Amino acid sequence: MSDTIERIKCLIIGSGPAGYTAAIYAARANMKPVLYQGMQPGGQLTTTNEVENWPGNPEGITGPEMMIGLQAQAERFGTDVRDGWATKVDFSGGVHRVWINDQIELHCESVIISTGASAKYLGLSSEQHYLQMGGGVSACAVCDGFFYRNQEVVIVGAGDSACEEAHYLSKLCKKVTMLVRSEKFRASKIMEERVRKTENITILMNHDTVEVLGDGQVVTGVRALNKTTAETFDIEATGFFVAIGHKPNTDIFKDFLNLDETGYIIGIPGTSKTNVEGVFVAGDAADHVYRQAITAAGTGCMAALDAERYLAAKE
Ligand SMILES: Cc1cc2nc3c(=O)[nH]c(=O)nc-3n(C[C@H](O)[C@H](O)[C@H](O)COP(=O)(O)OP(=O)(O)OC[C@H]3O[C@@H](n4cnc5c(N)ncnc54)[C@H](O)[C@@H]3O)c2cc1C
Repeated sequence: MSDTIERIKCLIIGSGPAGYTAAIYAARANMKPVLYQGMQPGGQLTTTNEVENWPGNPEGITGPEMMIGLQAQAERFGTDVRDGWATKVDFSGGVHRVWINDQIELHCESVIISTGASAKYLGLSSEQHYLQMGGGVSACAVCDGFFYRNQEVVIVGAGDSACEEAHYLSKLCKKVTMLVRSEKFRASKIMEERVRKTENITILMNHDTVEVLGDGQVVTGVRALNKTTAETFDIEATGFFVAIGHKPNTDIFKDFLNLDETGYIIGIPGTSKTNVEGVFVAGDAADHVYRQAITAAGTGCMAALDAERYLAAKE
């Protein structure tokens, strides 16, 4: 049970681009935002080196550097940035209750959820090694495809996103090999057709990834298993893209908010509003389509403006 109860005008849960952008706007609107960083301070971008598509940085910026800047900007206007993560919520009453680390109980007039999503990986140790090295494993073709221009890459996945990403890569890369674990795509027929018709995409059905190959620093290929013949073979590649889905960090909200079948929060279209008054959502927690820093930041801005108008209307 709670040791303390604190009253908060605007609580922001999560410290990615969505959360910090919401905080900048909320702080400048005098909403006295309190932001809890969660287990990954700075969010997903802290796991990447080069961010080249964040406007205003013509030479690019590292993910950690970018997030330090966003935090500093939010704090400059008075955001109270804290360690800790939300472990439970109760959105059933007029005041929204949120528990931090199962200990601190917060009574909030408004809540902005910006808890993001986590990319799923295969879990192979070689995959994790090159992911952590920044050496050629990625879960985001739009973010990292550009680094593999005119090169050969492998992508694993079978859904609509995998097809979308394979097609995106095919426009940049010399050759894209797509490994599909089963004998069938999960993607819609139209998406499947699109990759099948693309000349520089080779589709290998019923193939598993056995290992990501490399020289210790960077990826040089992928070892695949043909499950029909039980043969393994190596594919040359400098990039390995994983497109097997994302998991939104929304479990604690499921009893109160409308979620889709994957767990993404369903907002009211064109706004950041959820089905609960005074609870708003921004960033990847509600976005399975764009999943970019700039769109997360844009919706963070929307959430702060929607929260500000909600609070003003209550006064
Ligand atoms: C390797 C990689 C490279 C990428 N490169 C690019 C790129 O170059 N350009 C680009 O635009 N996008 C890139 N992206 C995508 C981009 O990182 C995301 O779209 C963006 O970070 C989403 O922002 P967000 O604020 O919604 O959530 P996130 O960045 O996912 O942050 C979520 C935050 O919520 C916190 N949190 C979660 N649960 C709780 C809880 N219960 N309580 C408190 N806090 C919680 C976490 O600690 C974290 O701080 C990349 C992603 C990855 C994984």
